[in-house]
Amino acid sequence: MIDPCSLEPKPLLSLDEALARIKDAILPVTDSEKVDLKSALGRVLADDVVAPINIPFDRNSAMDGYALLSKDIDTIQPFTLVLAGTSWAGKPYAGKVEAGQCVRIFTGAVVPDGADSVVIQEQASAEGYAITFPPNVNGCRNIREAGEDVKQGGLLCASQRKLTPADIGLLAAAGIMAVRVKRKLNIAFFSTGDELISLGKPPESGKIYDSNRYMLAGLLSDPCYHAVDMGSLPDDRLLLEETLKRAAESNDAIITTGGASVGDADYISDILASCGEVTFWKIAIKPGKPLAFGKIGTCYFFGLPGNPMSAIVTYQQMVAPALNLFSGALQSKPLRLLATCTTGLKKALGRQEFQRGILSQDADGNLFVATSGHQGSHILSSMSQANCYIILPMEQKALACGEQVLVEPFSTFL
Ligand code: AMP
Ligand code: MG
Repeated sequence: MIDPCSLEPKPLLSLDEALARIKDAILPVTDSEKVDLKSALGRVLADDVVAPINIPFDRNSAMDGYALLSKDIDTIQPFTLVLAGTSWAGKPYAGKVEAGQCVRIFTGAVVPDGADSVVIQEQASAEGYAITFPPNVNGCRNIREAGEDVKQGGLLCASQRKLTPADIGLLAAAGIMAVRVKRKLNIAFFSTGDELISLGKPPESGKIYDSNRYMLAGLLSDPCYHAVDMGSLPDDRLLLEETLKRAAESNDAIITTGGASVGDADYISDILASCGEVTFWKIAIKPGKPLAFGKIGTCYFFGLPGNPMSAIVTYQQMVAPALNLFSGALQSKPLRLLATCTTGLKKALGRQEFQRGILSQDADGNLFVATSGHQGSHILSSMSQANCYIILPMEQKALACGEQVLVEPFSTFL
């Protein structure tokens, strides 16, 4: 689509087209390493993992009560069985339950051979070794079968899965101590700009603190990545070129912010043209129009715009899915929902917008969203207050209060 406000001679690339091109260019890592289960959270499984044992391992009780034979249940009148022993969790009853007998049993204890029912203790009354049950109690209940969760040889977790706490629990339940995962990606990042000063220095007119690098460090804190912070670099062509070449030799990917547009001090494009294959795209999104993507040797390069909001939107919408694919993980899409907009929104035709919003839910589960404030690409406070993006399509014009909009929550908590 042509942006009517843009002076670009060519139509801008849509986000979907840019993402498709990036994904086409990326080859997922294949190298893997074996890690302890304790260090496997968030890592990408390299192989399918099957259960070496039945889970549960034994037929066991779901309740505290008495294990008995269902054929002993009297359907007409109360009946009494002889207590033959106890099956504790971790200490099974060694014998077999015979007709006319029952065994005291606790949750998780092995159901002894012969028994096919556990009657809950609330339904029984004990007098010494005589246990009496009401007529017609439910038989064949409260027993967890061996392998009911996962059978021996069954799939526990498929390869390419990014392991969750529940996955780790499942693998532990199968007695698995270590798993083979895709190796971590080494990702170098730095920011560029003569105006950048480091934290700890006093504020100075004409200078700004380098917020992008701290934000990027946060965005890259993922167990699949080993992020290398290379600092803030001035707009010095030679230094930038040396740093990029050095970083490309020892990393899988480089991410930079700033210097990617067409200003006199924007050297990134020139340098990359000489030492790599990098394409600069103008993408039809707001914030975040310019983005550079390509390769320096075997290292992928992502050049993000300098404005902090442009940097974070391009990272989340393009770099994050690209790195996820690169890490070997299965591809997934962010959750997007419809919500009623409770504020009017400004929007010009031509670019897909990612506006910062505050999503809320009423007692009936209806979703509402309001703008979180100023939407300039240099404004981070409205991003800090936001809990979602309001995604407005290219062809959308200004929106009135009460209209339905698509939102992308930042997390599952509001
Ligand atoms: P550039 O992409 O280098 O033209 O920068 C665009 C805008 O983003 C300018 O206002 C820069 O001062 C600002 N900017 C660039 N890098 C950073 C950074 N690391 N942190 C915060 N703002 C930045
Ligand atoms: Mg700059």
